[in-house]
This record gives sequence, structure tokens and C-alpha cells, in this order.
Amino acid sequence: MAMPPVFRFAPSPNGYLHLGHALSALLNAEVARATGGRLLLRIEDIDVTRCRPEFEAAIYEDLAWLGIEWEQPVRRQSEHSDDYRAALQRLEAMDLIYPSFESRAEIAALVTECERQGPWPRDPDGAPLYPGTAREMPAEERARRIAAGEPYALRLNMAKALPRVGALSWQEAERGLVTADPAAWGDVVLARKDAPASYHLAVTVDDTLQGVTDVVRGRDLFHSTSVHRLLQSLLGLPVPRYRHHRLILDADGRKLSKSTAATALRQLRADGLTPADIRRRVGLD
Ligand code: GLU
Repeated sequence: MAMPPVFRFAPSPNGYLHLGHALSALLNAEVARATGGRLLLRIEDIDVTRCRPEFEAAIYEDLAWLGIEWEQPVRRQSEHSDDYRAALQRLEAMDLIYPSFESRAEIAALVTECERQGPWPRDPDGAPLYPGTAREMPAEERARRIAAGEPYALRLNMAKALPRVGALSWQEAERGLVTADPAAWGDVVLARKDAPASYHLAVTVDDTLQGVTDVVRGRDLFHSTSVHRLLQSLLGLPVPRYRHHRLILDADGRKLSKSTAATALRQLRADGLTPADIRRRVGLD
């Protein structure tokens, strides 16, 4: 018998869920039901500085209120640092990652310096690419600064990683095969100074370890998939199918934010809306 497809909803507990999360969670639940699939829940709390237990509790409450059922156990990223470390060690053994010690302000100053020579490339999210100065740091200096306890992020050496994998693509619902363009992201961060993994690394490792076959998430993460494809290829991980769904926008056409109370599910619930109202508000039914 064919294995059932595995879907997941993967919110970060750094604010209350809003209408955009409702759409994502409801779509996942719907396709899981329609295909006889499983629905997993993952709490993306790798960034402990921004995540709070009350937001995690609210996630369970809001999803249950919407009528969504998920399998136990829930995977919480903060409990799986070893898995991310193991992936980093494999990339390190391939000599594809390097420590970068700069502060945000130092990186901004480096970018300003680069921009003096002409336009400097930006990633698909609009952030300037990392200028790559730490890539050339002599091994002795690296070792000395690590030994001195200086905090550092770990970055992927994109120029070195790309030739190892060749052309990459993924299967996107309603579009077919999409060509990945990881180079557009430059030397992305894989482990942060304050967290054992970046979003890109954690999501890629977790989707594999949870056996996810179908990633259904917002269009804002479409371009990130290029980085995930690269990591999957470097680490020899299976490639899920992807569906990047429409986003719910505010009256000004902007993506909803967790800091806007008006579109938070718990606020709408307090205002007297029902789960059926939420479905209508996000354009389902
Ligand atoms: N944790 C991410 C978010 O809340 C979603 C990650 C994903 O679905 O890949 O935006």
C-alpha cells in the first residue's frame, strides 16, 4: 500500500496567529483530509529570544478552535539542537561552512562600502547579500577568535556549494517544475550567534526527520525553497512537493503582521467571530 502523504503546519510562537496562519493551517488540514494524508504540527521556536510559551499555548488553542486536528507528538525545534548540529557537521566535513563574527552594524558598514563601488545585490527578501569578508579569514585567525569565545554565525559558502549539486528544481503545485536559484541568497546563515540553526537549516532538517512529503506554506517563502533545495541536495535528503499559497493582505496590500492585533485569531474570536466566519474571511468556502 502507498504511504499516505505527510503535511505539516509550522508556526513560530513569536506572536499570536492571524488570518494568514488560519489560511495556511486550514489548507494543510483540507489537503491532508482530501488525500488521506497525515497532518503534523511543528513549533518553530529555534529563536528563543523572540519565542514565548504563552504564544505556543495560544497556537494550540487557536488551532483547536478552528477545528484543526494534528498528530502527537508536536515537534519543538528548541528540543532538537543535536539534529541541526549533525547537519552542520556534515557540511563542515565538506568544507562548505565558515564562521562569520561580524555584528549587524559591521555587516551594514561593509555593504555601504561595497555600494560605494556601484549597486550591490540584494536577496529575494530585499536584504543586501553578505559581502563575504569572513570567507577569506585565515584559519589561524578563525581558530584564535573561536578559542577566545567570540560569538559567530555559520554561513554557507555558496560559491563552493553550487558546483557540488548542479541544476536544482522542485515540483510546485499548479506550476510544475520550478528552477531553484540558491545563488540569489549569497552566503546564507545556517547557524546564528543566538540560535543553533537558522530558519533555512532547521526547516530542511525537520521536514526530512518528520517525513514530510508535501510542504504547503505561504508565498512569502517561495524563494526560500531555493535554499532548502540546495541543502537537501548537499545533505542527500528527500525532496518534498511544494505548494506556496496566496497570502492574506491588509487593506494597504501588505502582508499581515503578528504585531497587528486586529487580524489576530484570538481577537477575532473575542469579537464574536466563529470558525466559519474565519473560513469566509480567508476566502475558503
Ligand atoms: N515558521 C515559519 C513561519 O511561521 C513557517 C515555516 C515553513 O512553513 O516553512 O512563517
